[in-house]
This record gives sequence, C-alpha cells and structure tokens, in this order.
Amino acid sequence: MQASFSTAIYDERALRAALQEADIVPTLLVLVQLTGDMKILHEAAPFIKGAWSFQEEIPEQLKEKIRDRLVETLKSHTGVSLNLTPPDEDILRQMMSVAVGETVPSAYVPLLLEEMGLSERHSRITAAGGEARQPPKGFKVVVIGAGLAGICAAIQLEQAGIPFVILEKNADIGGTWFENSYPGCGVDTPNHYFSYSFSPNNDWPHHFSKQGEILSYIRKTAEKFKLRDRIRLGVEVTRASFDEAVNRWNIETVDGQGRVERLRATALVSAVGQLNRPFIPRIEGLEFFKGAKFHTARWDHSFEVNGKRVALVGTGASGMQVGPSIAPDVAELLVFQRAPNWAMRNANYHKAVTDGHRWALNHIPFFSQWQRFQLFWVSAESFHDTLRVDPKWPMSEISLNRENHAVREQLVAYIRSELEGDESLIGKCTPNYPPYGSRMLRDNNWYRMLKLDNVELITDAISHVTENAIVMEDGTRHQVDAIVFATGFQASRMLWPMEIRGRHGVDLRQLWGDDDPRAYKGMTVPQFPNFFVMYGPNTNPGPGGSTIFYFECQIRYIMQALRAMIDSDFATIEVKQEVHDHYNAVVDERCANMVWSHPRVTSWYKNAAGRVTVNSPWKQLEYWQITQRFEPSEYLCVPRTEVKPSATEFVTDDVE
Ligand code: NAP
Repeated sequence: MQASFSTAIYDERALRAALQEADIVPTLLVLVQLTGDMKILHEAAPFIKGAWSFQEEIPEQLKEKIRDRLVETLKSHTGVSLNLTPPDEDILRQMMSVAVGETVPSAYVPLLLEEMGLSERHSRITAAGGEARQPPKGFKVVVIGAGLAGICAAIQLEQAGIPFVILEKNADIGGTWFENSYPGCGVDTPNHYFSYSFSPNNDWPHHFSKQGEILSYIRKTAEKFKLRDRIRLGVEVTRASFDEAVNRWNIETVDGQGRVERLRATALVSAVGQLNRPFIPRIEGLEFFKGAKFHTARWDHSFEVNGKRVALVGTGASGMQVGPSIAPDVAELLVFQRAPNWAMRNANYHKAVTDGHRWALNHIPFFSQWQRFQLFWVSAESFHDTLRVDPKWPMSEISLNRENHAVREQLVAYIRSELEGDESLIGKCTPNYPPYGSRMLRDNNWYRMLKLDNVELITDAISHVTENAIVMEDGTRHQVDAIVFATGFQASRMLWPMEIRGRHGVDLRQLWGDDDPRAYKGMTVPQFPNFFVMYGPNTNPGPGGSTIFYFECQIRYIMQALRAMIDSDFATIEVKQEVHDHYNAVVDERCANMVWSHPRVTSWYKNAAGRVTVNSPWKQLEYWQITQRFEPSEYLCVPRTEVKPSATEFVTDDVE
C-alpha cells in the first residue's frame, strides 16, 4: 500500500523554528524515510540510548545537519503530492531499532505499518472483495458504555454501516475520564500514544495530559465521527438476557427517574471497563463520621480543601495524583498507606509540548507516527520480557531476575535521593516486592510532598473511625475534617452489578463467581452467544501501554465476528468451550510466571484467591497478533437457516 500526502507550502522560517524545538529522533526518521539516506541513520544511531525523547545524546552539530537536510528535502517537495511506498522490511526494522535504541524484531514491522496508516487496521471490517453486504433487516448492536472503548466501538460500527446504539449510565460521555475529576487527575501513558490511532491528536498541550484535556479529546472525537445521536445518556443497563427463541438479547435499562425500558439487540458489546465501580473499604464506624467523605472517582467539588485537615486513604495511581495536588492548600494531609508502591520519575511527566514540537506533529509527514512508535515501544514492549520470573534468581523475594533487580536498585536509589537521609521515611516508602508487581506509578512529586511540614505518612493499621477522627489499632487518634478514599475499584468483579444471562438462563456472575472472570481473548464467553466484552478479563496492559491500543485490537476482532455473522448469515456465534478453556489455561500459566503473581504483591490485578484476573500476559504485539483474525472454526456458528422460522424474525421497533 502507498500513502499519499501533499506537502505543505512550507514557510522555511517556521519550519526551521519548529525543528529547533521538535524531538530530533522522529525528525531523523522522517528524513531517512523521505530520502532513503541510511548513512545519516547510522551516524546518529550510537547516540540514541532509548525511546524517550530525553534518552538521546546526539551532538548539536549532527542535529543541525539532520534539520538542514530535512528542510532541504521538504522544500524540494513543497506543494507536490507524494506517493510513499514504505521502505522495505529490513530498512524499516533498522529505522525502528535506531528509533528506540535497541534491536526491534521484524515481527513489529507490520504493526508499525498499520500504526503509520501504511496498511489498514480496520480494512477487514468491510467484506473482502467489493461491496460490504448489508446487515439483515433488524440487525442491531447495543454497546454498553460511552468511554474510550465504547466510542471506539461506535466509530467502527458506524463506518461499517451496522445499526447500533450506545447506552451510557452517566450524564455525559467519557467513562472513567468523565467520572474521575479529582485534583491532579491525568494520564500516565504518554498522550501521543494514548489516543486512537485513527484519530490522533497532534495538539496535546502536555506529554501527559490532565483529565479535562482527555475528556475534551473524547468529546471532540465523538463530534468528529458524528456519534452524539447514537448515544443515549443517563441510561443504565441493569440486566441483559439472551432469548434463545429469537436469538436476541433482551436488555433492560433504568434512567435517573427510575423509568425502566426494554430493548432488543442481535449482539451486545460491553464496554463498561474495569475501573468504573469504586471500592471503599469497610471500616468500622465510617457511617458515623460527620466530615466530608468521598472516593476519588466521586470527588465532591463542593468540599473546599483549603485550610482543612484531610485524610487520604490509599496510595495507588489516584492517591499519587491527588496528594501532591492538594497538599499545598490543606492545613494538614494525613496519608494512610498500607503497602508502598514503586514510582518512577519521568522527565516529560510535567512538561508542556512546545509550539515547535506541535507544529512538527501537525505538519511534517510521518513525524507523529514515528513518535507514536517510540512511545508504543517504551511504554511496555521494551521491558516486558524482564517481568518474567527467572527460577534461578537468588533474590526472588524482592526481584525477579537480573534486569528487574537493576530497576529495583535504581528505584531505591531514587527514593533515597528524594528523601535525603530520612531513614524512617525511606523505609516506609520502599516496597518489599519486585518492581512492576503492582502498577508502576509515575512520581508526581510524591516523595517531595511527604517532606512537607503539613504532610504525615501513616503506615499503621486503621482500627475504626469516629465522628471526627480516624483511630489506629494502637489507639492513636487522628482528628480530620475529611476522608478521601483513593482506594481503587472493584476490578475483578467485572461487569458487576449488571446481571447478564446467556443460554439456558446461565448467569455470568455464577459462571465467574464474585471475582473470577475469564473470557476467550478477553472478549467472548461460552454460552453467551453474540456477546462481546471490551476491556474484559486479562486485557489490562499491566506493565504500562495504552488501553486504547487494546480497544482497537478488540474492536477489530469484534467487527470481524459481526461481519462473519452478516456475510455468512449466522444467527448466533458462540465461542467453543474447549477453545475458551485452552486459552485461559495458557493465560493462567503465563500470568503465574509474571511479576503480578509474586506472593508479596497485593493489588487490584489479582482476585481474592490470588489469581491474576485483570492483567494481560501478552506483549502488545502478541495481543495484536491474536486478535488479528476472527476464526469461525473456534466458534459454534449457527446459520439462520438452521433456526426455526420464528427465530429468524428480527424485531425492528427497538433500540433506535
Ligand atoms: P489502586 O491502585 O487499587 O490503589 C488503591 C489504594 O488503596 C492502595 O494503596 C491500597 O493499598 C489502598 N487500600 C485499599 N484498601 C485499603 C484499606 N482497607 N485500608 C487502607 N488502604 C487501602 O487504585 P487507584 O489508585 O484508583 O488506581 C487504580 C487504577 O486506575 C490504576 O492502577 C490505573 O490503572 C488507573 N489509574 C490511572 C491513573 C493514571 O493514569 N495516572 C490515575 C488513576 C488511576 P494496598 O496497595 O495495600 O492494597
């Protein structure tokens, strides 16, 4: 496939000014892609130590040469339409390897081409060879949830011409980015990767943007793809059951006024995510507390933190962002920590994207895609192998293998440098389990916050709460005006509290138990025909990486399944039990050997029995590969002609 683009009429001054601020490595890669000049690639290679922008040490003179050459190249193409055939595989692989400062296997080349738009991610959604077959009369899809996954599904359904509606319980779209509005809320995955590949945003104001900016991106994307009319807000799905007589899903909803409504659909897609039901621990006496008390995902904006004594319970990703954001304003911040988390510094975490960099992203062909590839790589792929247990590793209690131990040492050194000799605090802040066992956090000036005079880190166990205080097991009383629960979500109770019933009335909750979900490729479940889960069991990118990348993999697979139903006239498709079971045995086996299963780790990645239910054991490449193709032979596919006539009737007076 060729990509065609028209080069702008570049204003040379603007171009040169932008290149001074733009990251040099994507600049280099664009130059090599446009000119085929491998000499300059190899000249720069030794100075690129990693994929983050701050990991290059290219001498200024060489940078100038790269910039000058790119200016000349772009000028020579000014105003013309270019057809670009991708470089051949070996050259691309060399370019990718230089981009990230280490050898990239050739298996990544097709993925990169897809990410660059040089091969199509969603091409298989339309029927192979010619016009897509129209869905049969009455064929409809209900999507539950209008967060990033649901919007992703909607865009693809819309483009494939498949009728659908999204049902969203909240008053607006955005999912977790709508619900979480606590001070400091933002993303930990770099934004130029944490965005849809088919709708990139080259105008992110920060490398890691805040909640408002992400919510605005989601809203703009919904507008751009004209989805607003397809989303019904304030409508919560309470139950869904598969009606075998007509091969349809019956879906029941309730709105804010308690009005119940029933809909029918051919296929049901859950896009409710894993992090939408807040968890507040049961603490004796909490109901008697008279001050403000709320969860981070339900931030009470009427509560004025200024001058108050605030208790922050929980020190995960949410606590890490809230604490330093409110510490300067509160009279006192008491941080209640159970287990410490590992936190890494990232030089770009608080950085704004410069104007020149934004200009380059917007105007220079393939600049944003090369940067995206770098971020894809560094977010997870580069270190995924180091998250596996080396059975011969002698320090297995605190690390997994040599590389993981080296990371541990760097992190410990970082904690020590931040806390400058405060041995008590250093001890409290140093986890006793291997790095990446729980979610690796980005240091949001957490350690500096802990050194503030008005901040206290409390690691003793909470006994109970009174009307104005938190009381510890040793009897110490901490009087507070408010309790903020940064205590996470009921992730393993996936799809709860919805009641979902498949064939023969089988209840998903009974099948999964309270917190033990399993699905084929995280998406399909035996006995639940025409039912798909996005961000389902074992699909959380544990080490990092973008959930959006996972959503795109999932919707591609789901769209192929729907396309197979339409093209082959299947009334139902249902994953075979043995296929599902085999897949999950592999998932469990892989997870058991990874850092999240480490016995010292307690985290939301595991269920009460200690099984990892949330995290994907796959590299992003592997998940992309296993979701490339929907394979009908893995499913019980029942043609419409084989079902009794009444079952082929589609009800049309619903869903719209
Ligand atoms: P979390 O990671 O599950 O952290 C919950 C915290 O509450 C932990 O420190 C936990 O301690 C503590 N806790 C739970 N029960 C407790 C109890 N009974 N007493 C005292 N402490 C208790 O939740 P989260 O911080 O909301 O993050 C959840 C996930 O959301 C993240 O991992 C991430 O995927 C996503 N998120 C991302 C961002 C971002 O991108 N920056 C921000 C927020 C959230 P233990 O560790 O001892 O269990």
